[in-house]
Amino acid sequence: MYNFQLHTPTKILFGQNQISALANEIPKDARILMLYGGGSIKKNGVYDSVLASLNGFHVEEFSGIEANPTYDTLMKAVEMIRKNKLDFLLAVGGGSVIDGTKFVAAAVNYPSDPWEILTTRGTNITNALPFGSVLTLPATGSEMNSGSVISRPSLGAKLSFMSKHCFPLFSILDPTTTYSLPKRQIANGVVDAFVHTIEQYLTFPVNAPIQDRFAEGILITLIEEGPKALTTPENYEIRANIMWAATMALNGLIGAGVPQDWATHMIGHELTALHGLDHAQTLAIILPALIDTMRQNKHAKILQYAERVFGITDGSEEERINRAIEATKHFFEQMGNPTTLSAYGIERTSIPKLLAKLKEHGMTQLGEKQDITLEISQTILEKAL
Ligand code: NAP
Ligand code: FE
Repeated sequence: MYNFQLHTPTKILFGQNQISALANEIPKDARILMLYGGGSIKKNGVYDSVLASLNGFHVEEFSGIEANPTYDTLMKAVEMIRKNKLDFLLAVGGGSVIDGTKFVAAAVNYPSDPWEILTTRGTNITNALPFGSVLTLPATGSEMNSGSVISRPSLGAKLSFMSKHCFPLFSILDPTTTYSLPKRQIANGVVDAFVHTIEQYLTFPVNAPIQDRFAEGILITLIEEGPKALTTPENYEIRANIMWAATMALNGLIGAGVPQDWATHMIGHELTALHGLDHAQTLAIILPALIDTMRQNKHAKILQYAERVFGITDGSEEERINRAIEATKHFFEQMGNPTTLSAYGIERTSIPKLLAKLKEHGMTQLGEKQDITLEISQTILEKAL
């Protein structure tokens, strides 16, 4: 196992009716900006619950944060905060709203052009406004990590940053808030959490059995509960298990002390930026092709994945690896996410454009061994056709 530091300062309030405890988590004299998306929280009652809990606080609102939150929209929130002297942020929504809030928190007092936060991957952030979240979509882990992904369509860019200043102070996870999710978003959330887990697990072995078995537990839980969440949307236990699985998948725990391979996400971000696919739709396409392409590097771990996650023990090593890739694809497709570019009408002619964007964004040495070069990314994209 590698050396590591693990610091996860976010307080989690998990369970039904936890929104009613919101007021205890925010200073009484805070001047709050509540940030949310396109209005799902008004339809499912979360908006009313949050405002009821914040009765007596100074609360202003900023709505309209998009899925794949954009720099231009978020900069409007930054201006509002500066103008109205607001000092506490509350994100209410899915990963896009929480990611957007992290950017806003860091941008308000950023001394130069805030786009630099993305181009320098957050390394120059020295402070951020305090913020908490009420999560309504289990997927990204953003509720308990310090990462954020921001898009800027005018530049064809979707870039990420991390900063120790951008952990939520608290996150409220009430599984009943997810009952209103459309199937597509539940599928996306399960696939995103699954791929986050894989990206910290399916690397080369470093003798870290605790991390491996935590990861396998998350993967198996998502495989067992994901399809049930599609058919029985108001089952509390299923939604609770998926919600906690998604948080555990990317709160630092399973990634501590082990190699990580975020290439699926990085290639996927370019697909969203150029073709507008949902985040998890891109991952379901890229991951199986990546495992296939990197089967030598990841050989031992893919065999472990095949056996422990899917119970595949028969056949030659290459056959078992093939079956693990097929089982992964089957799971994504069972959730409703196709696993090829062609399923979205994306053709071979797009590959050079995607590779050019990867190059522009410095994504030329991806993978746990930094050996996913542009040539390898090309192979992955070709396999994904
Ligand atoms: P999302 O983009 O936050 O939300 C997707 C859609 O679901 C929105 O239209 C939203 O509607 C709706 N929605 C949310 N909660 C709902 C509910 N309870 N009921 C009904 N509809 C609901 O989805 P996400 O998958 O959570 O976030 C994706 C973003 O996170 C991407 O930009 C991705 O790159 C990023 N990401 C971040 C990390 C990280 O570590 N920070 C990791 C992976 C991915 P409204 O807008 O109306 O609310
Ligand atoms: Fe993700």
